[in-house]
Amino acid sequence: MFACIFWQGRFVFEMASKKEELKWFQGSKYVKSDPMGLYQKILEQIQNEKNKNVLVIGLPCQIAGVKRVIAEKYQKKLLTIDLICHGTPAPAMLENFLRQYSIRMEDVKDIRFRGKGNKKPDYLAGAEEIKIVPAGVGDCYTRLFMEGVTYTENCYKCPYAKRERVSDVTVGDSWGSQLKSEAGNGISLILCNTEQGIKMVERAGLTLREVDIENAIAHNGQLNKPVEYSKKRDLFMAAIKKGMPFNRAVARCFPKIYIKYALKRIYIKMPFDPFHKNPKLGGENHLVRHPNMGISFQIQIWK
Ligand SMILES: Cc1cc2nc3c(=O)[nH]c(=O)nc-3n(C[C@H](O)[C@H](O)[C@H](O)COP(=O)(O)OP(=O)(O)OC[C@H]3O[C@@H](n4cnc5c(N)ncnc54)[C@H](O)[C@@H]3O)c2cc1C
Ligand code: SF4
Repeated sequence: MFACIFWQGRFVFEMASKKEELKWFQGSKYVKSDPMGLYQKILEQIQNEKNKNVLVIGLPCQIAGVKRVIAEKYQKKLLTIDLICHGTPAPAMLENFLRQYSIRMEDVKDIRFRGKGNKKPDYLAGAEEIKIVPAGVGDCYTRLFMEGVTYTENCYKCPYAKRERVSDVTVGDSWGSQLKSEAGNGISLILCNTEQGIKMVERAGLTLREVDIENAIAHNGQLNKPVEYSKKRDLFMAAIKKGMPFNRAVARCFPKIYIKYALKRIYIKMPFDPFHKNPKLGGENHLVRHPNMGISFQIQIWK
């Protein structure tokens, strides 16, 4: 299997052939990953391992690239999984953001862009966690990613943001899921696009529920069309190009977002919760804070 990992400050593709190695690949990286050398490595693997299939996981544009390059006669041995994709910022954008906190990518052991309350993986046992923002407060990088501001220009015209997919299987988040009782655990949306894809998912031993495909598509923008280009993106990019630090550019171009996060940082540090009244205490403000107000999209860094 080939997929993207974070390795020595870069988001690159590596090969895994053992189950134990899969943990290295876990987690969405909200950055454009670098498929350099990937096509050649896949080809070599297909040619050398005559009795084995090769699975490639990547962004839709990367899977389309793989399929274009690998000759027709080898395609039967190629299995592909693509992600539903909003868009991706260039790695330089992330570097700009982290520079404000004196963090250099080459010093980072691991980086996570969203958490589901996951335990720290064992390979990070001795690593130190660097807190960029307190738990419960979003960071500006993730927010602007979600807002669709920071992607490279081609993402706003992405030809793969539609229901017809390039791969055997597509995975994404099941926004607007009808499986309400499971929603708190996080539900994935899996689309089987080919016969190979159906077989692959059936063999995977997952807990599967059929969902209404029209509802899934209606709730997942990038199964319909690319993210819209906004004029504010031009302003933001111009500020970044001039060398303005990331958060200062956010304050200038998206003052509401910046102020909201600044206020949240103050709020979260308060020794009492000024907005929460406890009836048991006669309606007085009580000493409970809300360290995690349901936010799971936040950068976590280990050095
Ligand atoms: C940039 C980006 C944008 C996304 N946008 C959407 C969206 O709009 N709607 C939606 O429903 N889902 C989106 N997703 C998919 C979603 O975040 C999850 O990755 C997906 O639901 C699978 O989750 P998982 O926990 O099962 O797998 P994960 O543990 O998240 O990982 C699945 C695989 O994705 C690979 N991967 C992660 N990041 C990258 C990357 N940058 N480049 C190449 N491969 C990568 C990993 O190597 C791994 O093999 C996006 C993911 C990314 C990376
Ligand atoms: S939006 Fe399209 S072009 Fe941009 S990274 Fe995703 S798949 Fe590639």
